Amino acid sequence: MRIEADYDRCEGHGQCEERAPEVFELDDDGYLTHHYEGRDLPAGLEDAARGAAAVCPVAALRVVETSPAPRT
Ligand code: SF4
Repeated sequence: MRIEADYDRCEGHGQCEERAPEVFELDDDGYLTHHYEGRDLPAGLEDAARGAAAVCPVAALRVVETSPAPRT
């Protein structure tokens, strides 16, 4: 699976970084970096990333189901 981030919608609240810091990172100005932009997540990060998408208060993160990721 992948996560698509809507950077226009993101307000920098940071809940995604708390849930999945390997995937999402905010800089000091509150701008989001998505470390897996445009590519599938490793299987071991999928649950955390789903949790991050679920808690985003402005629904800026969308889960996209793709082919199964290889187990890591
Ligand atoms: S939780 Fe949502 S609004 Fe907050 S930084 Fe992450 S994507 Fe942006």
